[in-house]
Amino acid sequence: MFDALKDRFEKIFGTLRGKGRLSEEDVNLALREVRRALLEADVHYKVVKDLTDRIRERATGQDVLASITPAQQVLTIVFEELVAVMGSEPKPLTISPKPPTVYLMAGLQGSGKTTSTVKIASRLKGSHKPLVVACDLQRPAAVEQLRVLAEKAGVAFYGPQAGQTDPVQVARGSLKYAEDHLADLILLDTAGRLQIDEALMEELVRIKEAVPPQEVLLVVDAMTGQEAVTVAESFHAKLGLTGVVLTKLDGDARGGAALAIGAATGAPVKLAGMGEKIEDLEVFDARRMGQRILG
Ligand code: GDP
Repeated sequence: MFDALKDRFEKIFGTLRGKGRLSEEDVNLALREVRRALLEADVHYKVVKDLTDRIRERATGQDVLASITPAQQVLTIVFEELVAVMGSEPKPLTISPKPPTVYLMAGLQGSGKTTSTVKIASRLKGSHKPLVVACDLQRPAAVEQLRVLAEKAGVAFYGPQAGQTDPVQVARGSLKYAEDHLADLILLDTAGRLQIDEALMEELVRIKEAVPPQEVLLVVDAMTGQEAVTVAESFHAKLGLTGVVLTKLDGDARGGAALAIGAATGAPVKLAGMGEKIEDLEVFDARRMGQRILG
């Protein structure tokens, strides 16, 4: 595990054997490698700085100084700090004590929002009766896409009624529909844009006010790398995120975005999208992510 980084550490610390302690310079050299590894994995530079500061503090402490395996020791510190930023315990989706539970799904277009909405509904259909709701009225194809996916997954669907053009009306209508059809979990799929814009944010805020959600979940494409921080910060400022779904982790992205989002918003990554199929959704595992980031 972490072979590349470990090799680099061994090179730095190898000459130390017998010396019995690390100098500040040794630690700085090691931290330069850590910084490089994190930036290569798309971790945001601000997060990298905070992390390396903390690692430096611990790495110059007693334990490491006395250690006969400093490379391993520093590596362990790096790993523990990475996991701590992402939250070491899995963070399950919460259910409202008073049904229906509403999840507001937000994110940029193409992030995997619609797919993740149906994935979550499908995952919870054993314990709940979910209803997915098409509140993306910007793209005509979006409503149909959700309807088709919902049908495939065997979950109930609600979309705009004749003449409805305001997603807030649709969201409100879904409450009544859910009540009539005994659905206790409502997932609102909302419009995304290619970039964050005011109109999108205002629309989301209005939906949130009309139908107060239990969870506001931001769907983020792991491939977006450093930009994910800016996206997450803007959504968080307007909506107060309760969690993140990090998608496309089946791809090549190292997933540094996971670290950056946690650090920037405090909203935990709750779920990981691992493919295009409806069942390709996993509970986010910070330790596995840490291993992936360190390579
Ligand atoms: P939206 O515009 O945010 O609603 O995005 P969609 O749900 O339409 O997804 C955009 C594309 O990403 C689609 O082709 C999805 O199949 C794909 N996609 C979504 N989640 C994942 C994932 O976890 N892994 C992979 N490989 N593809 C995904």
